[in-house]
Amino acid sequence: MKKHIFIFLVIMTSLGLSSYRWGFYAHRRINRLAVFTIPPELMGFYKKHIVYLTENAINPDQRRYAVDNEAPRHYIDLDVYGDSALQVVPHNWFDAVEKYTEDTLQAYGIVPWHITLMKFLLTKAFEEKDLDKILRYSADIGHYIGDSNVPLHTTENYNGQMTGQYGIHGFWESRLPELYADDYDFFVGKAEYVDNVQERAWEAVTAAHLAMDSVLSFEKELSKRFPESKKYSYEERGNSTIKVYSKKYSHAYDQMLDGMVERRMRASIKMVGDIWYTCWVDAGQPDVEVLKSLEIEEKTKKQMEEEKKKWEQRTVKSREHN
Ligand SMILES: [Zn+2]
Repeated sequence: MKKHIFIFLVIMTSLGLSSYRWGFYAHRRINRLAVFTIPPELMGFYKKHIVYLTENAINPDQRRYAVDNEAPRHYIDLDVYGDSALQVVPHNWFDAVEKYTEDTLQAYGIVPWHITLMKFLLTKAFEEKDLDKILRYSADIGHYIGDSNVPLHTTENYNGQMTGQYGIHGFWESRLPELYADDYDFFVGKAEYVDNVQERAWEAVTAAHLAMDSVLSFEKELSKRFPESKKYSYEERGNSTIKVYSKKYSHAYDQMLDGMVERRMRASIKMVGDIWYTCWVDAGQPDVEVLKSLEIEEKTKKQMEEEKKKWEQRTVKSREHN
């Protein structure tokens, strides 16, 4: 009996709990690769801190368990605004608040607006040459940008829980990249200046949302062709055996998606580089030699460790991802 409970918990962990990631794996990869898109005049600075930016790409997910109000920054349930959400939801935060109230926006997620806010904060950090903030906001905005490009971050049915597809969130954003990202082409060219970050965030969310139907309907279709026993398999992770979507099933799904995961990851990398670079330009292109000579402060390191601890203890309840 005990064993059954154990297996059940492990299954829940593999299909449910682990779904709180573009995959930690993908978030890290996105921030890391974005560094290489940065034009030469700024790249030295970002390269110096590439380990920080990679490791801290997942901070916002960890923070969701430590900070109230963090969770809605990772998603926007566009479908709650109706079939023409993409046409009717105002892109400007204040217009949206006026139309729906802030409580409603917070309840269904604010990712595109939060990217705009973070852009403002990162620009200010560059203006003030505040290294701790530059790094923290760069890592953070990379995370939110990554999330804004994920189709299942734009729907209330974020884990297939409303359509009998529980687990699809982690399947799409963790399992597939972990299996296939080594074959993806991540060369996205050089970062470019973005005139309007607010609109760029909405373009990302729009592209993600338009892909959302395929994410769900293809998997639904595929699951009809696979018996349960072929759909899942077991893999060893550390000391435990976990239930995962089988390699065959994953491969078939990836084929149907026809490069979608790769496209969304590429879009994320490009957008992260573009927006980091834009913030620096808008701050008046502060001297990077000065920036490079700064070191991160002790108190910031401590604060990050505190957040990590709270995350491990899960002091704040949160959606598993999104
Ligand atoms: Zn997230």
